[in-house]
Formats: sequence, C-alpha cells, structure tokens
Amino acid sequence: MEKMVGKTKLSLVQGDITLQETEAIVNAANRSLLGGGGVDGAIHRAGGPKILEECKELRAKQEGCPTGEAVITTGGNMATEYVIHTVGPVWSGGNRNEEQLLRNAYYNSLNLAKKNSIKSISFPSISTGVYRFPIDKAARIALTIVKEFILEHNFAEVRFVLFSEMDLQVYEKALKGVIT
Ligand code: ADP
Repeated sequence: MEKMVGKTKLSLVQGDITLQETEAIVNAANRSLLGGGGVDGAIHRAGGPKILEECKELRAKQEGCPTGEAVITTGGNMATEYVIHTVGPVWSGGNRNEEQLLRNAYYNSLNLAKKNSIKSISFPSISTGVYRFPIDKAARIALTIVKEFILEHNFAEVRFVLFSEMDLQVYEKALKGVIT
C-alpha cells in the first residue's frame, strides 16, 4: 500500500529491512548499541562487523543511546548507505511514557535523516517485538508522527517494512485511520 503525503511517498511493504535499497534503514537497537536479537541482529549480520565498530566508537563518545534518541552509522555491506539506530521503549503497561518515547524514536530518526540530507528511509516496526509494545497502538503512533514530519519536510519516500503479513495488515488498517 502507498499514499502520497504532500510530496512524499509513504509506503507499507512486507519484507526484510536488511534488503531495502533506500538511502537509510532504521534499526530498532537497544541502549548499549552492541547489537541484539530481532531486527537488530539481522542488521548486524547483514551489514557485517563495520557497523558494530562504528557503534562502539559512538559508545565511547556518548555511552550508548538513550531511549527515544537516534545515532547514525554507515550500512556496512548492505545496499543501504546508512543505518539510523534508534531505541524504542520497552512496553510496561503504558504508564511509563512509552507512547511519547516511541514518538521520539521516530521523530529523532527522521530528524537525523534530514540533517544528513537523506531522501529515502525504511523503518521496521519499532518496539513491537521483544519490547512488546501493542502493535495496533504502535502503528497509529508511528504513522501519525511520520505523517506530521513529512508534511513539514519532504522526503522521496518513507517506507515501513513489516516482517509478517499480519503486521502489514495492522499497519494498513492504521494508515487508513491516519490518512483519510
Ligand atoms: P524491539 O526490541 O524494538 O521490539 P524487535 O527486533 O524485537 O525490536 O522487533 C521489532 C520488529 O521487527 C518486530 O515486528 C519483528 O518481527 C521485526 N523484524 C525482525 N527481523 C526483521 C527484519 N529482518 N526486517 C524487518 N523487520 C524485522
């Protein structure tokens, strides 16, 4: 599914984010920046050791990455030029500022992309795996903040890459609610 939002193409696809040829892909990292499971593990495996080396250099400068913030490295061996590593919140019931922190993760990733003149970017579904953020809520938050951002700042494309058919369906339903 795709929609134009201002001058930006907003698209939802099912697939593997490590194979996307957008200028940047976003990693749902953890605060250590040292890699982990899920999409983080897949990105480090596909990108090779260079990404971890760059993450370690960033860690030395700023002690990892706080929840809701974002940092940037190259894409290593992947087709993408950059990886933007952001840290989504762990869901713990909804009273720990999780919604705002998830918004921040998307916002700060887009802002970092803009600062680096990146014109196309792919996002995974941040926080909805091991971090257990309810995906229907997460999809609405993600699509709303992306819509707001791209109405202000043009990209060529912002793409969501959902790993399963079920996740894609959730995002498609949410998109219909967010863009009427
Ligand atoms: P978090 O810790 O932020 O919850 P996870 O990596 O556990 O991050 O999960 C985030 C989402 O990424 C999940 O929906 C998971 O299915 C998905 N995912 C895992 N591997 C990939 C991949 N290679 N490409 C795209 N999405 C992926």
